[in-house]
Amino acid sequence: MIDSMRKIKQLFSNTSVDVYFDSTFNHLSKLVDKKNAVIITDENIFSLHGSKFRNWNVITLKPGEAFKIQLTADAIIEQLIGFEADRSTTLIGVGGGVVTDLTGYVASIYMRGIRFGFVPTSLLAMVDASIGGKNGVDVGAYKNLVGSIRQPSFLLYDYSFLKTLPNIEWSNGFAEIIKHACILDHSSFKLLINNNLQSIKKDKKILTSIIEKNVVLKSSVVKKDEFEKGDRKLLNFGHTLGHALETQYELTHGQAVALGMVFAAGLSEQILGLKKSVEIIQVLSQYTLPTIASFDAERVFNILTMDKKRVSDKMNFVLLKKIGKGVVHPIKLDTLHKYVSAYSHLNKASK
Ligand code: NAD
Ligand code: ZN
Repeated sequence: MIDSMRKIKQLFSNTSVDVYFDSTFNHLSKLVDKKNAVIITDENIFSLHGSKFRNWNVITLKPGEAFKIQLTADAIIEQLIGFEADRSTTLIGVGGGVVTDLTGYVASIYMRGIRFGFVPTSLLAMVDASIGGKNGVDVGAYKNLVGSIRQPSFLLYDYSFLKTLPNIEWSNGFAEIIKHACILDHSSFKLLINNNLQSIKKDKKILTSIIEKNVVLKSSVVKKDEFEKGDRKLLNFGHTLGHALETQYELTHGQAVALGMVFAAGLSEQILGLKKSVEIIQVLSQYTLPTIASFDAERVFNILTMDKKRVSDKMNFVLLKKIGKGVVHPIKLDTLHKYVSAYSHLNKASK
């Protein structure tokens, strides 16, 4: 059924992206010539949705972040040669952020760049990873160290993929949705706080409106700053402390970012007078994300200050002026140290 499909166009500096909301996988064959296209997906998606891929050329990857590496890109390139892919071939990434990041990357370098599009299948890929044109691979401990910025030609949303998404991946996606609401849109925040993970999963209308709103929100930030010189930094809300925690503890990305957002909200309250920061804690818990954790403040602070966003004795941090309005704010390292230490103690005390 494609009756209800909605198409929008997002314009970036060098290109436009056709976005097909509420579409179906079958509609892909109208966008590309099956014989001259190669789908890249992962084993989980292939085993759950295999029938959809009939008669397509498919490359199936091992799932997971551990495979978002150059070795996998090389293996994809070998298989593309096997499929006799040339400059006129379209690559289609059907999967979560790992698949879309790899697909965009390989499409940017194969024969110096070929056409590509995405069918995001995880909530996180739908609202975040497939939007903005960033792609790439990890190198050792360095996430996304190698890659390029290049927009896909199209994004196709088939919400039926979400039926098989594991719970943990739902909350990972909601961490980024809550982030977008905090930095950009108070009305989305209100919608989130008036619902919860279970109620939204059951209500396709609200779910699709949230996904579509988030595509527009993220695209609006990217359009203002496609090559990451300013505004795009707002998207790092919760991610500075989040990344430091993620490298040190067994946390998913969404869980680490949730803890980072709680920290940044507390900081915003103290430094910028943010009101109702407690609502951020409330909303995170409604989407089964953690809000307290005890951690080694010294170790985490050391990792945090090795972060690339540091400028001399200050560090740029994304704070909230109010819910729905993020700002980049320089913070002195000794002040930050004090807050990190207080936050880790606070969490120990409340455990
Ligand atoms: P992922 O691709 O690893 O997917 C998470 C898990 O869900 C995987 O096991 C996958 O097989 C499974 N999965 C995906 N869709 C499914 C479905 N419909 N049914 C059942 N299982 C399904 O990771 P992710 O969380 O989607 O994305 C994280 C990645 O995205 C990271 O590598 C991150 O760096 C990247 N990312 C990129 C950007 C960007 O701007 N390019 C932004 C945010 C995140
Ligand atoms: Zn993130």
